[in-house]
Amino acid sequence: MTKTASSVWKECLYFIQDNIKQQAYKTWFEPIKPIKLSGEALTIQVPSKFFYEWLEEHYIKLLRVALVKQLGEDAKLIYDVRMENNYSSNNPHTVKFPSSNRNPINPQGVTMPLDFNKRELKNPFVIPGIQKVKIESQLNPNYNFKSFIEGDSNRLARSAGMAVANKPGGTSFNPLLIYGGVGLGKTHIAHAIGVEIKDKYPDKTVLYISSEKFTQQYIDSVKGNTRNDFIHFYQMIDVLIIDDVQFLSGKTGTQDVFFHIFNHLHQNGKQVILTSDKAPVDMQDIEQRLLSRFKWGLSAELQAPDYETRVSILENKLYRDGVDMPAEIVEYIAKHIKSNVRELEGVLISMIAQASFNRKEFTLSLTKQIVDKFVKNTKREVSIDYIQKIVSNYFELDVATLQSKTRKRHIVQARQLAMYFAKRMTKASLASIGSQIGKRDHATVLHACKTVDNLTETDKQFRRYVDDLTKKLTF
Ligand code: ADP
Ligand code: MG
Repeated sequence: MTKTASSVWKECLYFIQDNIKQQAYKTWFEPIKPIKLSGEALTIQVPSKFFYEWLEEHYIKLLRVALVKQLGEDAKLIYDVRMENNYSSNNPHTVKFPSSNRNPINPQGVTMPLDFNKRELKNPFVIPGIQKVKIESQLNPNYNFKSFIEGDSNRLARSAGMAVANKPGGTSFNPLLIYGGVGLGKTHIAHAIGVEIKDKYPDKTVLYISSEKFTQQYIDSVKGNTRNDFIHFYQMIDVLIIDDVQFLSGKTGTQDVFFHIFNHLHQNGKQVILTSDKAPVDMQDIEQRLLSRFKWGLSAELQAPDYETRVSILENKLYRDGVDMPAEIVEYIAKHIKSNVRELEGVLISMIAQASFNRKEFTLSLTKQIVDKFVKNTKREVSIDYIQKIVSNYFELDVATLQSKTRKRHIVQARQLAMYFAKRMTKASLASIGSQIGKRDHATVLHACKTVDNLTETDKQFRRYVDDLTKKLTF
């Protein structure tokens, strides 16, 4: 009897079925169609690239053994992948991949890594136990393009962001990487792209996540044995925005999983948006293959805004807060606070707080006083002791409690804030900050700083702590 693609495949299936769980067989083998047999090469059609990757990763040994049984040592497997294409779904195209043909070993080792009896994917944003997958975008609607003032310093990043928002996944800016120093608007622009996409394409699944949170979820998924669910979850996203990817440096496990997610999204025409405090060339401890992916799209730098842009940013903020401020005062601020938009806003907050608290008009002398403090602050060092005192006071703790080993949440937060301000306002090294605030190591301080940054962006109450403390520490 002559062999055909379907007869060979049928025999393979008998063998495979005997060696894996029924559910896994149903999920991964039943959808496969044998297409062609030429000599020792069997072509099978799989429904997606992801499917192909999954087979290669989990069942290649088993497949190989089955094929060798049918076609001999020279057996070859070719995948015919139907590309999922969202934009022209009625007209899928196919791509062929040769199997990696790794050496056969004992099929006993094949296990089903995912429990497909419960098919629903676990959403890492949802408390365990709650089943339904509902993806909150985690976007902050106040960070939009309207409120992001254009200037020479941000024109490239802003217009690339707009282009991506108009055609997510459909431009060559994929990934779009936005990089620049602290407080220059990376997070703002990243949200703005997401917000704009949600406006234009309400059906697209958009997700904003900080690299730190992503890492934490990944670690949790490994601990909880739900790594595959984690990956699946992220592979369902249409527009994935990951903030501060420099945080992934040195974290090889997270980089690895991100690499796979990235590839899947990219291959399926999904959009990836990244931010970083460094250009890809300057990123350290990021795997080369990931860095090279970052360079596939466009890297756009955010620079410090020029004077005109600083004035516009201030005016816009005042307008949106409904506050009137004389032009000469706005100009004075813009002239003296140069390097960082967050600081510009910080001065305004202090000004508004002072003026309303003391029922004062905005005067040039008040402005000078405040700006002076801000400028000095970046130069003159506050002591770490002083910071601990102010933070402890603010949370009605004593300094000993702040420094203690307790893991009570509100005390941990206070301690992290003290570390954060020590890092921000002094020139002390991480190690020295750690040793002065309760004998912690440098990694703890680093973690504290990231946590504060992160919470400031996501948690209003926490942001208020930071603003309040900034004010207290600057006066
Ligand atoms: P980064 O993520 O780069 O550290 P953020 O995006 O958090 O900076 O920006 C810091 C603050 O400055 C935010 O409140 C943001 O809204 C504001 N900001 C930055 N750039 C602009 C801009 N061009 N127009 C208006 N606000 C801006
Ligand atoms: Mg940011």
